[in-house]
Amino acid sequence: MFGGKSLMNQPDEYKNCSLCPRNCHADRHLRKGYCQCTDRLTAARAALHHWEEPCISGTNGSGTVFFTGCTLRCCFCQNYSVSSEGFGKEITEERLSEIFLELQDAGAHNINLVTATQYLPSVLPALDRVKDRLHIPVVYNCGGYEKPETLARLRDYVDIYLPDLKYYDSALSMRYSMAPDYFSAASKAIPYMIEQTGAPRFDDNGLLKSGVIIRHMVLPGCRKDSIRLLHWIKENLPDNHYLISLLSQFTPFYKSSGYPEINRRITTYEYESVLEEAVRLGLTDGYMQEKSSAKEEYTPPFDLEGI
Ligand code: SF4
Repeated sequence: MFGGKSLMNQPDEYKNCSLCPRNCHADRHLRKGYCQCTDRLTAARAALHHWEEPCISGTNGSGTVFFTGCTLRCCFCQNYSVSSEGFGKEITEERLSEIFLELQDAGAHNINLVTATQYLPSVLPALDRVKDRLHIPVVYNCGGYEKPETLARLRDYVDIYLPDLKYYDSALSMRYSMAPDYFSAASKAIPYMIEQTGAPRFDDNGLLKSGVIIRHMVLPGCRKDSIRLLHWIKENLPDNHYLISLLSQFTPFYKSSGYPEINRRITTYEYESVLEEAVRLGLTDGYMQEKSSAKEEYTPPFDLEGI
């Protein structure tokens, strides 16, 4: 889905970067921003991925491109080598556009841009290059920490949003993601995503063609925060205009050992109490995970495959 307008004449957004709510105004030609990214488009893996929600992965897999760096850099990130430690390879916009076509040729049901916000001035031109040849939906897979002004730029490029909704409590978002404004940003971004895509639409094979899937991963000791988020969703988002994916897969990766209260898996009680509240609120349009899903196989090997 492209109404594509060229970005050739856009201002140099890498020079004074305010692409995400950090608004750190880094001159990324000279230094990294909070996201740990310079102006060099960098990615760690491009391959078919089978661990997204069934309507995204389908039978063939989702054509996932993992970009290096992240605007959130959560302390428990399962992809920390890529999000926080800089693993990846510099590529050109032209190479990225070839990657999109290679994934489509490999049978991908969609192009899945994982954590792309910090590189949008490069990613959108790459999409422009292939707009006449890419015939599968584009998925924007992000942490939910987005600015409406930046999302507005995606209107003609993105068919499906896959945002996390991580925290309600600003003390939690500060502690685990250094982002006390997380909910303030995400609670504006997600309604805007829904406004852009409209209600979920599926093809004849049950694959999502457009829409929003809100992902929430239950964190150890945080089930009450999860339940507050469910109530916010129910009270603030239009019925039948989104899917919910409740994740039980939390595994204490990266710096979790420095946060004793989350240095464990979640309990069955924690996950089921959140599920029960979702059902009680009628939030049943979506996906839940088997409690046994917390396995490292959700983390793909970052070996520059497809880059
Ligand atoms: S994308 Fe990166 S450099 Fe730009 S405002 Fe966000 S954290 Fe800062």
